[in-house]
Amino acid sequence: MKVTIDPESGFCFGVDRAIQKAETELEAGNPVFCLGEMVHNKVQMDLLKSKGLKVITHNDLPALKGQKVMVRAHGEPPETFKQLQELGITVLNATCPIVTKLQQKINESFLSGESSGAQIVIYGKPGHAEVAGLNGNAGNVAIIVNSEIDFGKMDFSKPIRLFSQTTMDAEGYQMMGEGILERMNEAGNTDLVINKSVCRQVSGRAPALRSFANEHDVIVFVGGSNSANGAYLFSVCKSENINSFYISNTEDIDIKWFENANSVGVTGATSTPGWLIKQVAEFIKRL
Ligand code: SF4
Repeated sequence: MKVTIDPESGFCFGVDRAIQKAETELEAGNPVFCLGEMVHNKVQMDLLKSKGLKVITHNDLPALKGQKVMVRAHGEPPETFKQLQELGITVLNATCPIVTKLQQKINESFLSGESSGAQIVIYGKPGHAEVAGLNGNAGNVAIIVNSEIDFGKMDFSKPIRLFSQTTMDAEGYQMMGEGILERMNEAGNTDLVINKSVCRQVSGRAPALRSFANEHDVIVFVGGSNSANGAYLFSVCKSENINSFYISNTEDIDIKWFENANSVGVTGATSTPGWLIKQVAEFIKRL
């Protein structure tokens, strides 16, 4: 049985950069307090915690006066940075540069749209940290949409500036844009700007993953149980190859999956470390 690792798998650039920043601090013996889970992957988080990383919430900030706090790749709203400054906390800012650029673009759109009454609409997961950061840059008045159910939240007779959380699926975003345009046309309004804000590290993975899923008898997908990106990329695999299985670590593997398989492909979410994918592949080889 041949076991192949997806060459496109492993951390995305933003997460990789954030982890490297944290590791450099930890190796220098500095305590690192991270605002929220750095990556939606328990195995990687446990490893960082064993090196000294402490995950904190916004409620913990007042007790950390004078300390160093890390902002993860998802970013934070402006209010958080203000609070950190007021508390004299040093910020270790690991916001992904792509997210920073998107926050700036949303802020510009928000400020220029204030007079025209344009609505800032964000296609994303409600409650997701990146969405909170994006919304904060729109004065916390952005309309968060996830499906057609949310159409009632928008006024289709007014201008709309549409953005997407970086890790959303490109196909879903396109459908959302088309649906909004259709409703706006019905309302006699065409003032819609759809901003291309799905990250290429995510949108580029889906087509490559389709081919990879078709090339193997069984696909083992490694991802965190709370990874939005993992759930989406796994659905791409499953739609191409019914013998696709989602695992968090080697303990979830069932030997029965490989009974009639000649080739197994191992892949993962953009929040899954390359070393873990390699570990899973080695484990399957030994089976
Ligand atoms: S998915 Fe893209 S935008 Fe989001 S953290 Fe990774 S590289 Fe940055």
